[in-house]
Amino acid sequence: MKKLINAPDAVTSDMLSALARSDNRLLIEPDHGIVLRADYLAHRESGKVALISGGGSGHEPAHAGYVGKGMLTAAVAGEVFTSPSVDAVLAAIRLVTGPAGCLLIVKNYTGDRLNFGVAAAIARGEGLNVAMVLVDDDIAIPAGKSRAGARGLAGTVLVHKVAGASAEAGTSLDALAAEVQTFVPQIGTMGIGLSACTVPAAGKPSFVLGDGEVEYGLGIHGEPGVSREPIDTADAIAARLVGAIVAAKQIPAGKPVVLLVNGLGGTPPAELAIVAGSAVAACGAHGLHVRRLLVGSFLTAIEMAGCSITLATASDALIERLEASTEASAWLPVLTPSDASRTVTPPPPAAALGGTTGPAADPAAQKIFDAAIRSVAKALIEAEPMLTALDAKVGDGDLGISMMRGAQAVLGVIDTLDLAHPAAALEQVSSLLRRNVGGTSGPLYAAFSLAVALSLRDDGGALALADWARAFDSGCRAVMDLGGAGKGDRTMLDALLPAAEALAKAASEGVSAGEGLSRAVQAARAGTNETARLDPRFGRSSYVGDRAIGHVDPGAEAVTIWLGALPGIFVNQ
Ligand code: ADP
Ligand code: MG
Repeated sequence: MKKLINAPDAVTSDMLSALARSDNRLLIEPDHGIVLRADYLAHRESGKVALISGGGSGHEPAHAGYVGKGMLTAAVAGEVFTSPSVDAVLAAIRLVTGPAGCLLIVKNYTGDRLNFGVAAAIARGEGLNVAMVLVDDDIAIPAGKSRAGARGLAGTVLVHKVAGASAEAGTSLDALAAEVQTFVPQIGTMGIGLSACTVPAAGKPSFVLGDGEVEYGLGIHGEPGVSREPIDTADAIAARLVGAIVAAKQIPAGKPVVLLVNGLGGTPPAELAIVAGSAVAACGAHGLHVRRLLVGSFLTAIEMAGCSITLATASDALIERLEASTEASAWLPVLTPSDASRTVTPPPPAAALGGTTGPAADPAAQKIFDAAIRSVAKALIEAEPMLTALDAKVGDGDLGISMMRGAQAVLGVIDTLDLAHPAAALEQVSSLLRRNVGGTSGPLYAAFSLAVALSLRDDGGALALADWARAFDSGCRAVMDLGGAGKGDRTMLDALLPAAEALAKAASEGVSAGEGLSRAVQAARAGTNETARLDPRFGRSSYVGDRAIGHVDPGAEAVTIWLGALPGIFVNQ
């Protein structure tokens, strides 16, 4: 057993005292495990009915999370999966009950029914006005099979909310008990578990589910359910649960319903969201209109993976109760699902950036530009295994694939590039890289090529080495601005910056493009080799620290590879 606890037998008491310390709207009575509204004394005199719920712990945020204005006045927490004692419930009743009386909301388990029931009887004997309602929303166990009756499951939280809103609105105890008694039979819940849960004091899970097995119809105390079956899709599971509830509660087509999708403690929000989508669709298939939806982990079974689905027939009055405001920290927003398509598309760019103003490149220059792009792409695709291996050593191994993807994307559209205007073509390349290359290098290369494009914008197609040198330098500056790295930080800049310097120098000396590029490649190679001695400070290599030493930076290596593909193209230029 691995849990974030101090001691297995202190879980409940530690949790309760932490809850009260974390939220100054709460108080606790530690001897009996009671969490109550900090303003309980004022509430007692307010003429409003007090509400108490509770039960064994392990169902968090139930029930302490529902203590607050508009929901419960107090929650009584027993040990994990153990009903609180009569005395604990009695102490809670004595604390919060004023002249308006108190309603106990109890999940239908024998232990809870007895302890809350006896406490209510004693309190009545003391002259307190106490009523009790049982919640038995579970539909998994066929009626009559268990003499104990159906269990109280996640639907209980809906009862807390309805009763809380009603009490806050000033409903008398009798009317409140009647309202809840009418509501409870309209709620149906069924759950599935993907894994069991471990009671801290027991140290071992209560049952074991094989890989690929799910348990249908389980409760919230780690007890097995009614059947064990192979895992299915979220759609199929939701359809099955909704179908079972609709059948058990005989909900006719056309009925509006409230849907609650509850996580059992170990279900990621993404999976709950998927199940919620599936459940709304499943309701639709039964002709039910889901007027309101609640999704979250409301009533759990410690760390059990799985969920339950609850349906309640929805009247305007119910929706008003659910939407009334509350200060209870665990109550979540009530959602309104929609049948309409919920997708949008972003607007197209207001205007293309690269309206170049200069003259078009002549056909020979276009041919060279085309060959240069192809050569760069080919070199990066061929280098994929080597870059992958290098990035796997010092980073996360995605650089080779990223560069290859970018190269393939560019090759895929090369015939549509505006090769007569390198600025426009490079801007197209930038937007391709932005869309196709992930990781860190994607946005950095997109920024690099966009800056190069913008720098060439007014130069037209007849470009000299000096234009390219200036543009290259501006690309480097964009990478520095965006990524915050500089020379010696063991990044692609350790290849780019020496290359930029060499290009600028070559341009000022008036050498040929081929010669200028050769010098740039040599400078990039030297800079890249240097990186093997540098400590990584940026990107994912920074997480491996010293282990990167002795290997060159993959990003710098990639720069040297694609630069190295250029001199051959310009050899006679
Ligand atoms: P990720 O680290 O997200 O997996 P990639 O694998 O796409 O990134 O790229 C890794 C390369 O990115 C590194 O080898 C390094 O050259 C470069 N890099 C990382 N951070 C920066 C930065 N801030 N500035 C410039 N280059 C960087
Ligand atoms: Mg990487």
